[in-house]
Amino acid sequence: MSPLERRLRERIERDGPIPVADYMAEANAHYYATRDPLGRGGDFVTAPEISQMFGELVGLWLADLWQRAGAPADAVYVELGPGRGTLAADALRAMRAAGLVPPVHFVETSPVLRQAQAERVPGAQWHDDLGGLPVDRPLLVVANEFFDALPIRQFAADGRELRVMAGDGGFLRDGEVETESSPASIGVMRDLAARLARQGGAALVIDYGHDRPGRGDTLQAVSGHAYADPWAQPGSRDLTAHVDFHALAGAARDGGARVAGPAGQGEWLDAMGIAVRAAALARSAPDRTEEIEAARRRLTAPEQMGRLFRAMAALAPGWPDPAGFAP
Ligand code: SAH
Repeated sequence: MSPLERRLRERIERDGPIPVADYMAEANAHYYATRDPLGRGGDFVTAPEISQMFGELVGLWLADLWQRAGAPADAVYVELGPGRGTLAADALRAMRAAGLVPPVHFVETSPVLRQAQAERVPGAQWHDDLGGLPVDRPLLVVANEFFDALPIRQFAADGRELRVMAGDGGFLRDGEVETESSPASIGVMRDLAARLARQGGAALVIDYGHDRPGRGDTLQAVSGHAYADPWAQPGSRDLTAHVDFHALAGAARDGGARVAGPAGQGEWLDAMGIAVRAAALARSAPDRTEEIEAARRRLTAPEQMGRLFRAMAALAPGWPDPAGFAP
């Protein structure tokens, strides 16, 4: 039994069943603090790890907005949960080509991933949460597969919050899930939006989830690129839940930001010109044409990442309309 599992069992024995959100938070804090889960040898692959095109188009999106907002010289790049730093490195390269070379601020709790990020993006500054970010300049914010890792609460049909008990092999819930919410995600989004409203800037959130509040259980575990039991071996597998973009958009508006989207990741990447970028990459590396085309399809096809993954923007009220979203 892992030290985390023992700690959770002792806590439940002492205090009684714990909220699902506490279980998820403890499990993921341990999971991310102890490994680099990304890539072929890890547990899951994210869009920036599939192709450089993803981060480049994110960078172009930010650079275009920034330019049309009057190119404020003091803007900073902020990324929430930057993983290996791949997205940031690709985005910063694309931004540099457009004349935007901002200081870099990462919000990241994992020491292992901070190390990987430092190798990809020298000179970045790290924060445990939004609290340490600059307060007096425009923020250009990116969050890819960040919100899905934040803890969710789960509720039964009668509104009772579901709790986690200790069982024989692992853990179990004390009822059937009817609805979910993620106060942690709402808090981050509202705080971010309030900063955008005060300081200027924009945030691009990309994640898997739904545009309308759904019903039922979306908590899942992934290990070694396969679904796993979320109630066994906490801390050894990635726990995520569908992001409720309806709730996230509401929180952004509450905080004082404008919202664009959500749109499917595929629609957004198509509108940003991924086909043109793929063709250019294939011209400069003809032997990689098939691989580039496969990556483009994986990121955009509706039956792959194109539809389940959503892109949504939050914008400072005075900033222009962003590219890539239907008006
Ligand atoms: N954005 C990256 C990584 C996604 S994995 C990519 O697309 O490849 C989730 C990331 O969020 C990891 O970097 C993880 O360490 C970080 N993370 C998870 N929970 C966090 C929290 N509560 N605060 C800050 N970072 C967190």
